[in-house]
Amino acid sequence: MADSVLDAEDQDLLRASADFGHIVGSRPLGVLTARSVGAVQGLVAFAGPRGIAVTARGGGQAVYGQGQADGGYVVDMTGLDEVRCVPEDRLLVAGAGALWSDVVRASLAAGLAPPVVPDHLGASVGGVLSTGGFGGSSHRFGLVADWVRELEVVTGTGERLVCSQQEHPDLFRAVPAGLGQCALVVRATLQLLPAPARVRRYRLHHRTPGTFFTDQRRLARDARFSHVAGQARPAPGGDWHYIIEAVAPHNGQLPPEDGLFIGDLDHDPDTEEIEDLSYAEYLHRLDRDERLLRASGEWQRPHPWLTLLLPEEAATSFVPSVLSEDAQQALRVCGSVQLRPLTGSTLHTPLLRRPAGERLCLLSLMRTAPPDRPDVVRQLVAANRALHTRARAVGGVLYPGGALPMTPADWRTHFGPDWDELVRAKALYDTHRILTRGYGLWP
Ligand SMILES: Cc1cc2nc3c(=O)[nH]c(=O)nc-3n(C[C@H](O)[C@H](O)[C@H](O)COP(=O)(O)OP(=O)(O)OC[C@H]3O[C@@H](n4cnc5c(N)ncnc54)[C@H](O)[C@@H]3O)c2cc1C
Repeated sequence: MADSVLDAEDQDLLRASADFGHIVGSRPLGVLTARSVGAVQGLVAFAGPRGIAVTARGGGQAVYGQGQADGGYVVDMTGLDEVRCVPEDRLLVAGAGALWSDVVRASLAAGLAPPVVPDHLGASVGGVLSTGGFGGSSHRFGLVADWVRELEVVTGTGERLVCSQQEHPDLFRAVPAGLGQCALVVRATLQLLPAPARVRRYRLHHRTPGTFFTDQRRLARDARFSHVAGQARPAPGGDWHYIIEAVAPHNGQLPPEDGLFIGDLDHDPDTEEIEDLSYAEYLHRLDRDERLLRASGEWQRPHPWLTLLLPEEAATSFVPSVLSEDAQQALRVCGSVQLRPLTGSTLHTPLLRRPAGERLCLLSLMRTAPPDRPDVVRQLVAANRALHTRARAVGGVLYPGGALPMTPADWRTHFGPDWDELVRAKALYDTHRILTRGYGLWP
């Protein structure tokens, strides 16, 4: 471990005791700033037989302590951030602590890009893979995790293994979207595709949820756009209006013919916004929002977020009804509501839970709570719990990682038929159950 540092300094412990959610905080015993895979292995091998918790930390974007280790060790992965593009194979090899901004920079330099890139580029490769990862192109290309070709991991028993569909396939099934339960990822090999030089971005305002969902469904199906996302925004009089954000790639010389792309849609043509950007500018589209939120202090406030996957036919009534509830009115003042289409047949990651059917809607309630009001935060977390129950009643499922207390019994229900396989993998690869306890999967 000579190249890595095991810290018990107050500032490191404090940093590892918090996350983007600013809701729960658990103090670790120490923080390992990993500079080599051997160091991660050494720590896990030490902690396992002693039953001491170990959790990886990448970008720190978890919202409910999923990246914390109460009384255990946090492994800061950000030192394992080497990124190498292999253009001839259209692959990128990234250390698990590399951020998505590193991945984008290295792949675009070779004229390539991952098929799915998360909206915000501040999370780590390992952190996003641990939940699955979605982005603007998920309606066509599924999850970030669907494009992982190989993983190098340190299991909970301290073994360093490489897994893929050919090598240790059981481990390769258990790690992507596996909530860090069986292994810590140290390196990932991701598939890349040719990147467009430029994109034309359309923002299309819809006055009713009906026209929004009909248009979003059409765009998800006919693949005319490379990226399709959406939002609900507060409108005067207590209403909400809905915006589709759709992106068409082009090579710079021949911009898209707007009429062909949006002429048949049911948005309000007087308010449409059309903008040309380089693909890099588009992928970095949230950088400015982050700077503004940091400057206003909102970035540091509690974030009781919740993300659900809904069958699309249920979303059309579920979403407007949720947004009209008293419990969600704070979203009108501070936060954002994201709505994006997903396509069942593009989702292949075994441990991702999803509703049955082909047309799905991912609903993210990205709330910001006032500072110093733990009572409000508690109410919002309780509202998340109630919403999760209601979503399940219409065939929806949780996208893990939100501010939602879950018991082991809840997780068992969540994973359904795949629970037994996860239990078997856990017993084999994390025998002492030391990894990533923040999710609360086990008693
Ligand atoms: C502003 C913002 C925008 C977001 N947008 C998107 C989006 O568009 N798409 C999307 O999919 N998600 C999005 N997220 C969610 C975010 O990507 C996930 O919460 C992700 O898990 C955070 O990764 P991190 O590196 O920040 O992880 P951390 O907070 O450091 O950890 C998150 C979880 O991942 C585990 N983990 C981290 N590294 C590893 C590793 N190497 N091996 C095993 N487990 C590991 C941690 O233990 C923890 O359980 C967004 C979050 C924020 C705050």
